[in-house]
Amino acid sequence: MMLQMTGVHAHYGHVHALRGIDLSVQVGEVVTLIGANGAGKSTLMTSLFGAPRCSSGQIIFDGEDITRLPTHQISHRGIALVPEGRRIYPRMTILENLQMGVSYADPSNFEVDLKRMEALFPILESRRHQAAGTLSGGEQQMLAIARALMSRPKLLLLDEPSLGLAPLYIRKVFEIIQELNRDYGMTILLVEQNANHALKVAHRAYVLQHGEIVLSGTGQELLSDPAVRAAYLDGG
Ligand code: ATP
Repeated sequence: MMLQMTGVHAHYGHVHALRGIDLSVQVGEVVTLIGANGAGKSTLMTSLFGAPRCSSGQIIFDGEDITRLPTHQISHRGIALVPEGRRIYPRMTILENLQMGVSYADPSNFEVDLKRMEALFPILESRRHQAAGTLSGGEQQMLAIARALMSRPKLLLLDEPSLGLAPLYIRKVFEIIQELNRDYGMTILLVEQNANHALKVAHRAYVLQHGEIVLSGTGQELLSDPAVRAAYLDGG
C-alpha cells in the first residue's frame, strides 16, 4: 500500500472541509478523485502535506504515519504535488524551474533527471533558457509535471492538470499520465473535473461530495454508473 487515509477530517476555521475520508492508493495505481466545485478535492490533496492539518484520523504513506509531520518532511518522504493552476515561476527560465523541483536531500541526479524530463517533454529542451512565463498554458502544465518529477517522487499528486487547457493539451496530459504509470511505474492520485478522461485512465476512482466519499469503484464501474453519468459526465 502506498497511501492510506483513514477517517481524515480537516477544517478551515469553521468550515468542515473533509468529513471522515477513507481512501487508499496501491503501489502502481492511478486513482482518480472526482467531485463538484467546493467538494474538497484540493483540500484532500493539500491535507496530505499538512495544510490544512488533519484534525482527526490518520494518514499512512509508504508504511509510515505522516499525519503530524511538517510539510518539508512529507515531501522528502516522496510525495510531490502539481498544484491547481500550475504555479510555475514565470520569470525564471525553464531550467531554473526544473532545478527548483530537485530534492534538497539528493541533488546528485540532476543531469540524469533533466535528460529524462527533456526526453519525456521535448518542448522543455528546445526552450531551456527561455522564461517559463512565455510558454503556453499547456506547455506550462508539462513543465509543472516535469518539475514535480525532478524530486523522484513515489507518489505524484495532480490537481486538475487539464483545467483551462486547449483540447490538444488535454489529450496530451492524459497521455502523459498513462505513460508515466505504464512505462515508469509511477503511482498517481489525480483530481479532475474532466471526469470522462480521468475515469478512463484510472484503475480506481472515488467520488467526493461535501467533504465525504460517496462512491468508489474501478474507473470503468464509475464511468457506467448512472448517478455518476448524470452528475459528472452527461454534460454535468
Ligand atoms: P474546486 O474544484 O473549486 O477547486 P475543490 O473540490 O477542490 O473545489 P476545495 O477547494 O478543497 O474544493 O474546498 C472545499 C471547501 O473548503 C469549500 O467549501 C471551500 O470554500 C473551503 N475552503 C477551501 N480553501 C479554504 C480556505 N483557505 N479557507 C477557508 N475555506 C476554504
